[in-house]
Amino acid sequence: MSSKLFFLAIAALHPYEAVEPHMGTLFSIKLYAGDEKSAKQAFQAAFARIAQLDETLSDYKAESELTRVTLSSRAALSGDLFTVLSKGQWLSAQTDGAFDVTLGPLTHLWRQARRAHQLPSAEVLQEALSRSGFRKMHMDGQSVRFDVSGMQLDVGGIAKGYAADEALAVLSKLGIKSALVVASGDLAFSDAPPGEEGWKVAIEALDRPLLLTNAAVSTSGSAEQNFVVNGVRYSHIIDPKTGLGLTTSVTTTVIAPHGIDADGMATAINVLGLERGLAFIEKQSGVAAAFLIDQERRVVFSNRWPVAARSTLTPATDRLRRSERRP
Ligand code: AMP
Ligand code: MG
Repeated sequence: MSSKLFFLAIAALHPYEAVEPHMGTLFSIKLYAGDEKSAKQAFQAAFARIAQLDETLSDYKAESELTRVTLSSRAALSGDLFTVLSKGQWLSAQTDGAFDVTLGPLTHLWRQARRAHQLPSAEVLQEALSRSGFRKMHMDGQSVRFDVSGMQLDVGGIAKGYAADEALAVLSKLGIKSALVVASGDLAFSDAPPGEEGWKVAIEALDRPLLLTNAAVSTSGSAEQNFVVNGVRYSHIIDPKTGLGLTTSVTTTVIAPHGIDADGMATAINVLGLERGLAFIEKQSGVAAAFLIDQERRVVFSNRWPVAARSTLTPATDRLRRSERRP
């Protein structure tokens, strides 16, 4: 065997995949490594980082840093919580509060309402709204301060994208250059799989896949998490103006350089809707978005959406109708 061939033989990379439950969903990681041992080590380190972020950012866990911080009127923050809250506050400022990490009191009401199949009363809603609002939260240095007591944070609209970024960073430090992290609607990936041009990302509602490297793709909408009261469907994404789940039926997908941005922006533009959402996206460098307007059964792409991935539109609802008609 020539020395060149020998080198190729030992450098060959193989695909490995692993799945673990974190942050109330399944995280799946696909990576290319030289052998099973290094793949296993890489999975362990990446999942440990995701678990650590869950411990920090969860609003379900009484001992998480996020819960502890909301119980005090002022608190110093770890680097992770600081990064996530700063990005949240930036998004709030850019979207006039459409995205808001202080909606905790309202997302908790939403969870109760889903269990009880009943909306909260106007008084209860008003009280929760009085303890929410990004303008009542202030970041200075590495600390956070709240204007009113009883505020509750919920970073569920941005945490999975950040966790995906951080998992990729851990893998990169271990020498894994080509990897994909998927957490339900949030994906982030590094270099292309060996010998390929990019990661092929299929979006459920669109018929043309994306081919991307070193980017993230997030999808938000009410398709999976919602409840119906008196014939009205309430999304798990809260309209900060009403305090209730959105009743519009839009699915939004964002492509961005990092998961924290793709995740946060996909949620934000779901609240903003088509016109204001598009205007916001066009201002962000390196970011593209697609809006699937379920009721009208049409897809609208922002200018930077890759031309090759612009579908000739096979809306999900059309596909659904066709399959319903099958005998
Ligand atoms: P995603 O699935 O990324 O769109 O995030 C939805 C989650 O974000 C919800 O389950 C809540 O935890 C949280 N959330 C709901 N409404 C908002 C909002 N308007 N701004 C920020 N986070 C929100
Ligand atoms: Mg999101």
